[in-house]
Amino acid sequence: MPSTYAHERFGCDVLRRLPERERAAAEQAPGLFHLGLQGPDLFFYYKPLNPGQVSRIGNAVHQRPGLDFAVHAAQVAAEHDWALPYLAYTYGSICHFALDRACHFDVFDYTRTHGAAHSVIEGELDRALLLEDGKDPVRADLVENLHPDPEDAQVIAAFYSGMNLGGSGEDGFTMKQMKAAIRSFIRFNHILTAPGKGKRFIIFSGMKAAGKYEELRGHVIGYEEDPACREVLPVLRRHYEEAIPEAVRLIRDFRDSAEGRIAWDPLYEMNYESDYRRRWAEAGITSGEEK
Ligand SMILES: [Zn+2]
Repeated sequence: MPSTYAHERFGCDVLRRLPERERAAAEQAPGLFHLGLQGPDLFFYYKPLNPGQVSRIGNAVHQRPGLDFAVHAAQVAAEHDWALPYLAYTYGSICHFALDRACHFDVFDYTRTHGAAHSVIEGELDRALLLEDGKDPVRADLVENLHPDPEDAQVIAAFYSGMNLGGSGEDGFTMKQMKAAIRSFIRFNHILTAPGKGKRFIIFSGMKAAGKYEELRGHVIGYEEDPACREVLPVLRRHYEEAIPEAVRLIRDFRDSAEGRIAWDPLYEMNYESDYRRRWAEAGITSGEEK
């Protein structure tokens, strides 16, 4: 997944291009739109060093076709009379799907061909976008637009309760866990914003102690550009731009598809990981796993 800043920035780019009705819905419930931009990644930050049932929801949603989320979101929004908070969360979530779907194949494939860790590639994309926006990549507050209020957890929980996660039905969560996941997402993004060497040392030591240094270190944006990711960044940057009109189209058509006037967009057939495993299998790639 492109990381926190890429998703936030992408959503702002999409928002500016939305038709009036959809833009107004997102702007009238901005908190839920911005939380939606982080999609199912919200669940990854719930006890990240000790992943369990709740953080598995994040993986499960990413591995399902986008259609599963879209159809379930349509049901949830209809049940709540298309209330703006539900639409705003849906629109933000569609942005998340569109960017993940566009970028993930090349993120996973680059981990296979170049050995760079997934989180490092995504951290480097965030660094490049922050620099492009004139921000300091190691100090910028990546979650400055997230100010959840207690009702937000209730809205978000509705989208992931009863969704087909392809598992054995043991992927449930409590409202307390949902609230904790949102809080953790913000807290960890603050913790991982680590300008000082001392704080970095403590964070990296914790990751090493948990045996997750390679997997997680990219979540702390580096002081310097990582040359190992140089080749993939222009590719991801191109996917980012191409995904903007796709997300605009998915959001514009959401209500018409939800109410059966038009078919769901074929983009939803792919999962959040760009179906990279299927595409690898079709290309005869059997060795090499993502990092
Ligand atoms: Zn994601």
